Amino acid sequence: MIVTAQNSPRILVTGGAGFLGSHLCDRLIADGARVICLDNLYTGSLANIAHLRGHERFEFVEHDVIEPYSFEVDQIYNLACPASPPHYQRDPIFTMKTSVFGAINALELAKRTGARVFQASTSEVYGDPKVHPQPESYWGHVNPIGVRSCYDEGKRAAETLFFDYQRVHGVDIRVARIFNTYGPRMDPNDGRVVSNFIVQALRGEAITIYGDGTQTRSFCYVDDLVDGMDRLMNCHLDSFDPVNLGNPVELTIKQVAERVLRSYGVGGSIEYRPLPSDDPTQRQPDISRAQELLDWTPMTPFADGLERTASYFSRLLNPKLVLSREPMEIRGG
Ligand code: NAD
Ligand code: UDP
Repeated sequence: MIVTAQNSPRILVTGGAGFLGSHLCDRLIADGARVICLDNLYTGSLANIAHLRGHERFEFVEHDVIEPYSFEVDQIYNLACPASPPHYQRDPIFTMKTSVFGAINALELAKRTGARVFQASTSEVYGDPKVHPQPESYWGHVNPIGVRSCYDEGKRAAETLFFDYQRVHGVDIRVARIFNTYGPRMDPNDGRVVSNFIVQALRGEAITIYGDGTQTRSFCYVDDLVDGMDRLMNCHLDSFDPVNLGNPVELTIKQVAERVLRSYGVGGSIEYRPLPSDDPTQRQPDISRAQELLDWTPMTPFADGLERTASYFSRLLNPKLVLSREPMEIRGG
């Protein structure tokens, strides 16, 4: 069949003006879909989707997912939710409402239209994990009343809603547990570690390590992640179980700081700050399920992803800045 603007699939992306959402919109448009990008611009930005505005298959709708919405669609990607700790802690009640009402509104639309619906869940459902690396079968170790709970428990409640709508109403669900992802279009004031460190290094400021930097994360480049999302949305499933999506190469935060400083620093140093409460001590995805089900493995080494991200920030912050990069020792992927 020849795909035209009239018969191509219609796909809703909530949170489509954010970091991940805007890359997903790019991918869907490139694949020939008609895309509705719905966002209230809480942490997202019109700049992220400026290049798509005016495209005949792209539409932007400013709307808050806490309030119901209705479109005729074939697929829904539910990404709307602040994702960086400073942003989701700024108004924790709004964060919880976004997760819970946002999930209900996406699921109600899926129920009415028969659309397949994808939930951007998170490694935060594992909390401060006592099982390492984390397989999907692990139920997690989450503080229900701490400063991160609005996000962690909100995302856990959203997963519960997804599985109850599946069992009760037969909704066709996809649940991805996304681990730390980075890349161009992160907001320079986002507050997450990779963007913070690169922006600090490029500005010649001290790199701020929270705690002693021995805590670990595993970082996935955005293009790999979007590829995994696309594969999960469009694969055949025998069970609706969640799927971890992330890069299993684990780094300490101190290692990340040293690499960024060495490659992009312009005279900066490292400054230690207090560790935020409930900050997970370790995190690494077990991606066996994604590898078997989706034939998916992240391909981008951290050094390469870091370079692309640093180039983006250097253009954003100062178009005249010239990047110096030295080879990095560990190349994950
Ligand atoms: P982001 O903050 O860049 O994007 C979130 C988007 O959702 C923004 O455009 C924001 O304006 C929008 N939004 C927030 N609340 C909304 C509301 N009530 N109504 C409508 N729009 C709303 O963050 P991101 O990194 O792109 O994350 C996207 C999704 O992926 C989130 O659901 C996040 O929890 C999930 N996730 C991301 C990561 C990661 O490392 N990037 C990891 C795990 C899960
Ligand atoms: N972090 C840090 N300095 C920063 C920002 C974050 O040391 O400027 C640490 C943070 O305490 C955490 C890790 O880096 O241990 C990852 O933080 P991020 O907010 O990116 O993601 P999350 O904690 O949600 O995985």
